[in-house]
Amino acid sequence: MPGSVKLSCRNLWKVYGPDPSRFFARNSMAPEVLATEMRAQGYIPAAIDVGFDVHVGETFVIMGLSGSGKSTVVRCLSRLIEPEHGQVLLDGQDLLAKSDRDLIEIRRHKMGMVFQNFGLLPHLTVIENISFPLRLQGLTPAAQRDRAAHVIDLVGLKGRENSYPRQLSGGQQQRVGIARSLAVEPELWFLDEPFSALDPLIRRQMQDEFLRIQRVLKKSIVFITHDFMEALRIADRMAIMRDGRVVQIGTPEELILNPADDYIAQFTGEVPPIKILRAHQCAVAIANRPVGLPQIAPDERMEGLLPKLAASPAGLDVVGPDGAYLGTVTATSLVETLGRVEGAGPVRVAHG
Ligand code: ADP
Ligand code: MG
Repeated sequence: MPGSVKLSCRNLWKVYGPDPSRFFARNSMAPEVLATEMRAQGYIPAAIDVGFDVHVGETFVIMGLSGSGKSTVVRCLSRLIEPEHGQVLLDGQDLLAKSDRDLIEIRRHKMGMVFQNFGLLPHLTVIENISFPLRLQGLTPAAQRDRAAHVIDLVGLKGRENSYPRQLSGGQQQRVGIARSLAVEPELWFLDEPFSALDPLIRRQMQDEFLRIQRVLKKSIVFITHDFMEALRIADRMAIMRDGRVVQIGTPEELILNPADDYIAQFTGEVPPIKILRAHQCAVAIANRPVGLPQIAPDERMEGLLPKLAASPAGLDVVGPDGAYLGTVTATSLVETLGRVEGAGPVRVAHG
């Protein structure tokens, strides 16, 4: 069911250090106070009271600087490491309560994982790498071949089936990693900085590929990155982490328009306003405007308005879904809006 919650994590804590569970025996402290206490005693609280929901078919991005706890959180979600406290619910079932055997089954059949360093087996060919998890799933050789051929096609590696990882470029190796993780047809797809080791141009291509694949497959995804622009491109919603805590959760636009604090604003301030601002935010009411101006929707991005404005220098009428006139975008109103935003620092605009 689209929109329903696939994966939910609540009050999740992961603390590195000897026997950290004792901190939770009598825990009535505020999370930040408890974390400070832990640090004072030499512990590393890497995930502090982390909570978020991932909806069916959603790409949920966790963004944060190196060391902010992103990998720790995603490893707790698949229970590759054990959190000290909190809940992880998959389809409403508590993953932390599952036996080791159940967990192996869940990981094998329901989860796909992609890592930054590709994690390919060097002595196996492309098709053997991709078939590997299918063998673990117990598929027949014929079914393995069919499934592998399908995902090889999906990631654009046809013709490279019999190459070894060392014969492939970084981008191609990560395509194998992606194909292998998708071969098991996971319900949940975890990607931990999958493109961070790649050159910028290749990274951009891989992001496009990822978006294309996700449009087809509509997986429920947790995607980790330290790159805010990457997060903006691919996220339906994102969480920003800092020092083990989730600082803000929202759609890219919500974060950019209303950064919760200066830390978030450091990231969002990098984003050109032209990519964010929408027509209704750049329009002014003009009573004696020429009749018959081209009409645009209030939520059209400024970026897309430029060519339209070039074609209609007298302006563009912003018209609501009910046909109501909301204002006109002109070259002057556009420049004035940009000037206001640049002068005021990060864009802060109320929604609605
Ligand atoms: P990110 O993925 O955002 O770079 P990590 O989750 O890898 O961050 O790390 C978060 C914090 O936890 C860092 O301070 C890191 O040094 C620490 N950490 C990660 N793994 C371990 C570990 N196995 N033992 C001790 N500390 C760790
Ligand atoms: Mg990491």
